[in-house]
Amino acid sequence: MAQLLAEPNLQLTKKQQVWLDDAICRLGNNEPLQHVLGYSTFYGYRFKCDGRALVPRPETEELVNWILHDISTLNPQLSTLNILDIGTGTGCIALSLAKELTNSTVTALDISEEALSLAKENAKLLEVENVDFIKGDILNKTFNSQLSTFNFIVSNPPYVRECEKAEMEANVLDYDPHTALFVTDDDPLIFYRTIGKFALTHLTPNGALYFEINQYLGQETCDLLIGLGYKNVELREDINGNARMIKAIL
Ligand code: GLN
Repeated sequence: MAQLLAEPNLQLTKKQQVWLDDAICRLGNNEPLQHVLGYSTFYGYRFKCDGRALVPRPETEELVNWILHDISTLNPQLSTLNILDIGTGTGCIALSLAKELTNSTVTALDISEEALSLAKENAKLLEVENVDFIKGDILNKTFNSQLSTFNFIVSNPPYVRECEKAEMEANVLDYDPHTALFVTDDDPLIFYRTIGKFALTHLTPNGALYFEINQYLGQETCDLLIGLGYKNVELREDINGNARMIKAIL
């Protein structure tokens, strides 16, 4: 596309023209650019993207950056870490961490078979081997009590309330899977409460829990974690100045 703008006389092949016409049509229908291109770049890595999982967001890169920065300050003997990513989607968090921390093992969990199939394809494309994929519902206590313990637990769970639908763009509302996005208005922190409780018994000593959060529920989410017994709860804003991520330590 950029080449076409720079060279207006550029001759496209028939195949390129067909692709371009189709792409323009899909974009006109508000399909996300990442679906049209078939990929998105996240933390410097290329992730295959389609309707099976949420398109990776730049805010989530900031969360990955926070975790990696914290890990880089750890005692080197702790560099072999067990990390759990709850609601992995495309695998963007889990696979970026696995790429950056080759001595660590990352467990990538999702309730959606489709999302897991995409995340596994991404693992193959990125040649990542230190990731285990698990299908399961973190809200199901019988399932989650069987999981092991981890040094770090991270999650970008569904957090958009039904009442926020009106302010969402069509390219999100019509194309990102709703199971990855929405929670009910009457219990919007259900994933934070459940994962917060789960992590009380599934974090190793000195472990930490990281969340991406709903920008409108920053204080409520912090209060919930403090209420569960977390001592050190830090809220950070994203690059747009929105309350976007939390780290909690026991
Ligand atoms: N940040 C996403 C959005 O604005 C939502 C991600 C999520 O629900 N975890 O659409």
